[in-house]
Order: sequence, then C-alpha cells, then structure tokens
Amino acid sequence: MTPRTLFDKIWQQHVIASREGESLLYVDRNFVHEGAFHAFFALAKEGRKVRRPRQTFATADHYVPTVGREHGLAGVIDPEIRGMIELLEHNARENGLLHLGIDDPRQGIVHVVGPELGITQPGLTITCGDSHTSTHGAFGALAFGIGASQLKQILATQCLWQKKPKTLRVVVDGTLVAGVGGKDIILAIIAKIGTAGATGHTIEFAGSAIRALSMEGRLTVCNMAIEAGARAGMIAPDDTTFRYIEGRELAPQGADWDRALQWWRTLPSDEGASFDREVHLGGSALEPTITWGTSPEEALPVSAQVPAPGEMAGADKREHAISALAYMGLTPGMALTDIVIDRAFIGTCTNGRIEDLRAAAAILKGRKAVVPAWVSPGSSQIKRQAEAEGLDRIFTEAGFEWRASGCSACAAMNGDIVPAGMRCASTSNRNFEGRQGKGARTHLMSPAMVAAAAVTGRITDVRTLL
Ligand code: SF4
Repeated sequence: MTPRTLFDKIWQQHVIASREGESLLYVDRNFVHEGAFHAFFALAKEGRKVRRPRQTFATADHYVPTVGREHGLAGVIDPEIRGMIELLEHNARENGLLHLGIDDPRQGIVHVVGPELGITQPGLTITCGDSHTSTHGAFGALAFGIGASQLKQILATQCLWQKKPKTLRVVVDGTLVAGVGGKDIILAIIAKIGTAGATGHTIEFAGSAIRALSMEGRLTVCNMAIEAGARAGMIAPDDTTFRYIEGRELAPQGADWDRALQWWRTLPSDEGASFDREVHLGGSALEPTITWGTSPEEALPVSAQVPAPGEMAGADKREHAISALAYMGLTPGMALTDIVIDRAFIGTCTNGRIEDLRAAAAILKGRKAVVPAWVSPGSSQIKRQAEAEGLDRIFTEAGFEWRASGCSACAAMNGDIVPAGMRCASTSNRNFEGRQGKGARTHLMSPAMVAAAAVTGRITDVRTLL
C-alpha cells in the first residue's frame, strides 16, 4: 500500500463525493461564536434547523468583555454587545446546541475550550468561522476556518465542498534551549517561509523539537499556521496527545476510548509518505523570537537589530518594510532590545493556556511590571486553575490586571485597546496595523518574553531573567 500522510488519511476518510477540482467532506465537529449570526439567520430564513446539533458547539468569546464578568450578562454595559451574546444563546437554544455562554463555568475562547473539553480529537475534521481554527490540528485533526456561507452549508448539511490542499512538511529538529518554545518556533518558521509560504497547503509540523513540545506548545504552533498562509496545520498524535485528552468531559470513555486510541495510533504519516514540499529548521539554534514589523513574517531573534528595507529580498518586501518601520516608529540598525514598550498583554487562543500563564508567572514572581499590563486567561476553567495555583496573585502583585476570558484584546474590542502610538508586547497572533487599536504598535512574542518586557519596560531576552 502506498505510504500516506496524516493529512491524506483524514482527507480520504471524510470524502463523500468528488467533482471537478473539489470534494464534499464530512465535518465531524463545528464551532460557532457570536459572529455566526448571519449563518443562523440564513438557515432560519429557509425554514431549516441545524442538521446535526450534537456536532456543533457554541461558545461566547468574540464579544464578551474581560471585565465586570462577576455580574454575568447583566454586567455587559454595551447593549449591542449584549445583544450579540444573547443572539448566540437564542440560536443555540433554538437548534439544541451545547452552549457555553457568558455565565457557563466552561466558557472560553473557542480554540481553547474545544481541546479543554475533549471535543477536539485526532482524525476529525473540524471547522469554525475563525481563521485560527488551525489550532485544533495540534491533535492530529484536519481543522480549518470557514466563511459565513460555508458555515450555513455545514449547519444545514454537516458537509462542505473543499478543494484539496497540497501538503508541506515543516521539520524542526534539535533541542530547544530554555526560554524558547512553541511561539518562537512558529514565528521563526513564518519568518523563514513568509506569510504566503504555505498558501494552498496544509502544513504537517514534524521533527524532534515538535515532538518534545507539550500540547500547549503544539497548539501555539498550529494556531499560527494560518499566518504562514496555510489552510491548516497538523501534528501527528502521540502519547502526549492521548494523555491530554483522556478523562476530559467530552472525550471517549471506556470501550469507546480503547477503540478511539487504536484508530488514533494509525494516523501518523507512514514511513516514506511523500509531501509536495518540505522545509527544515534547526531547533537548537532558535532564540526567543519577536516581530518588529506589521506582518507576522517580520520577525527576528531577540539578539538581532531592526533590519533595513534594503536587506529585504524583493520589491514587495522592501516596500512593506518601509511602511512597517514608519508605522512602528523604528529605525534600522537599532537593537531589538532597545525598543521601549508601553503595554504588556498575555492571552488569546495563541497563548492563553495554563502553561503560558505559568511561564509568564515564573518570570514575574518577585518582580514588578513598569508598564500597564493585563492577563486574560484563554478560558474560565484556566482562570480558575491559575487561581488555584496562586498564579493570579503573582500577576496582580507584579502589577498585572487579572481579567476574565475573551477575545477582546486580540482584536481591540470592548475597550481592550492599545492607544495610538503606544507599543504593546503581546502574546496574540496578529501584528497588523490597527489590530489592537488604531495606531497601536504590536510586537508578537511568547508569554515569558512579554513578562520580561513588562518588568524591564523594553524588549528583553527572557533568558537573562530565567
Ligand atoms: S483570540 Fe483572536 S484569533 Fe483567537 S479566536 Fe479570538 S479573535 Fe480569533
């Protein structure tokens, strides 16, 4: 039998029908958030209901504020925002969906709660109307973001027409040094291949450095696969994966667990399976990595200097660098560690998990932030777990605000905004112009690097504080 990739195995198992250039895929799991109202509206207009309600999960995350949450829905002051949260609840109730609303103790950011509840599992096809759905691929699932009309198709039929992507294997071998993790790996990969480097491909991340990552680290890597232009990112499931899933609320139990495990173990790419492209990266040489510009590919090791546009290969990249330097207020040749920051933020579906909070707290313990800083855990469960471990006290004693879970500071919602001209050390996934507020300057980095920047007031190599 021809050796197959992880992607091929999942794809072939989910194809229902094929026609010129595309296939009809069965969708195992679908997530919706407040932004799904268009699709529900279109569905209702046709007199339809969700066809497989047990396979769609609703969570309030994109619109929920990160402050005042002790008052639940009543604490949401803005009537428009409250209306969006209520609309999701209404649509979930009308269609019989599991709904993790603002008051549910399991509420959280969609790409955090899926894995946390055991909804995300190896071998599944998973969709959500959010580009960072690639996150779930960390479990060896085929997970990708969809638009509103595709969401309506899935709600109505549990299927979706898709063009088959090509495959790209990114191999990261070697042992990471202390202070370097999943965020540094993915920023270094995007810097190497560019934001269009994986366009039309599904990436399988492989190699000893990837295998050594925890599930949290793998989730961060797959989360940002989309920033390299990939349709999806995946990592072969292994014992790290299975240990994470076992016992979670919606994970298979008893004999179902044994059956699932048997199948999951067959999923990794076969020896000799061929990929359309392959890229290699040395893990041992990686440093903590940060972005200096306004695209995730404009990233460098922390020991580097701000580059000059003339160093860029290609006119497009040179032009982009010129406008990025102007927007970011940086001068070529200055050391990245000389960049002074004004804000520090830890959270989002990229880096709001318990291990992220622990890594940041380890740096903050006994130190004080010299800039305004805040933390928004990726889910309400993570918030409680962090509180049980005493991490909240470390953050607040260091001067960080301890907020509730939500997407706000990823996309400048609910007043979670970085003021114009201010520079934020952020664990989020996008540093586009205006992403964290009009005129806001975002530098992407790991949670430990954000903590280091918060206590020194400038971009800092976290390894000097370990
Ligand atoms: S944190 Fe940002 S990227 Fe993640 S789900 Fe929310 S809006 Fe999307």
